[in-house]
Amino acid sequence: MKKTFTAFNLAEQQIAQLDMQLLKRRLRMTEKPCDTTALVNNRELKAFCSNDYLGLANHPELVIALGEGANKYGVGSGSSHLISGHSIAHELLEKKLASFQNIHIPDARALFFSTGYLANLTAITGLARLAQQGEASIYSANLNHASIIDGVRLASAQTKATVILFDHQNLDSLIESLKKDSNSLKLIVLDGVFSMDGDLAPIKKLADIAEKYDALLLIDDAHGFGVLGEHGHGILEMFNIYSKRIIYIGTLGKAAGVSGAFICGPSILIEWLIQKGRPYIYSTATPPAIAHTLLKSLQLIEGDEGVRRRRQLNQLIEIWHEEMNFSKWKKVVSSTPIQPVILGSNANALAAAKLLDDAGYWIPAIRPPTVPLGSARLRITFSANHSAEDLRALIKTLKTIEHQLESEPQL
Ligand SMILES: *Cc1c(COP(=O)(O)O)cnc(C)c1O
Repeated sequence: MKKTFTAFNLAEQQIAQLDMQLLKRRLRMTEKPCDTTALVNNRELKAFCSNDYLGLANHPELVIALGEGANKYGVGSGSSHLISGHSIAHELLEKKLASFQNIHIPDARALFFSTGYLANLTAITGLARLAQQGEASIYSANLNHASIIDGVRLASAQTKATVILFDHQNLDSLIESLKKDSNSLKLIVLDGVFSMDGDLAPIKKLADIAEKYDALLLIDDAHGFGVLGEHGHGILEMFNIYSKRIIYIGTLGKAAGVSGAFICGPSILIEWLIQKGRPYIYSTATPPAIAHTLLKSLQLIEGDEGVRRRRQLNQLIEIWHEEMNFSKWKKVVSSTPIQPVILGSNANALAAAKLLDDAGYWIPAIRPPTVPLGSARLRITFSANHSAEDLRALIKTLKTIEHQLESEPQL
């Protein structure tokens, strides 16, 4: 008798089901560095899908800096930060990152991470552990990024924290819940720029609410760092916020063009995360050469080149607002380089992505569970390396494809 292997059978069935629901995800391999054109299966595609907003991922000065860093520091850190992996390159980077936020967060200190996912897990679980078991409340926005959601779930499992969801565009329910909340620690967490809609958190109101109800406010500015604010310091700079209640998270693999993330907050809270942030404590430090490269990237972000690149992004956003109009598809209003177009069904979004591919564009269909059911979309993103002509050509193609799909519905 042939023995059955349950795990393989289950995986086969589940994957077949995803495929049927048009939810199966597929990897595509690129054969060129990340930029506005990609090479996939020997075809050149115009890419409007990366998070390399400033177009730094293949910047010659950063390529040189990575080589320099490797020569200076080798390629591995050898251990976690608390054992022996914390190098002078990490220290310099953290000082520089803190200097970006210290006019917004008094006594700011920054802690560098290998990924934003890890930074969110560390910050949320670590801060929840400030309270006794069952005495923390975590307020999490409905449309938060998966890494925040997972951080909140883990914190709740570890500390029995109460989790309350709220709508970031209507803060009434948040305020109502906070009024009744007698827990010793209250933590509000949300994206600064919502990653699938491109809209901004009402951060000024949230900072006031945090002050009024003695809460901490954790902002994940993965899509704002490098892009928002005159110097690219992010959403706190943009709204000129000053608060000792803010924990700021920025990621460094998006606009900064490299890899990694950081938590920045009042130094006493950062000290606590160093003591009790398990993902921080038990993970190998990022190669110091990466930290060295990031120092160069921060210089570019802050300097004239960053100013020029942000200006280019803003010009693209303006062109999009003025010249892109659909008849059925829905543009989501966004002042960031994230410009979603809602098509509704998975089938429609996939059909549009396919036609875009045929036309030489790489813009994937984003489907649930990344976005709510029935709101499948094209997530179009701009890079400062896109020209106005690149964007106008895309606009023309999108109009044609919308017309094509609407006149012969796919399913
Ligand atoms: C990308 C992203 C992260 C994860 O950051 P990585 O460095 O890619 O792990 C976290 N939060 C948000 C909002 C993101 O968009």
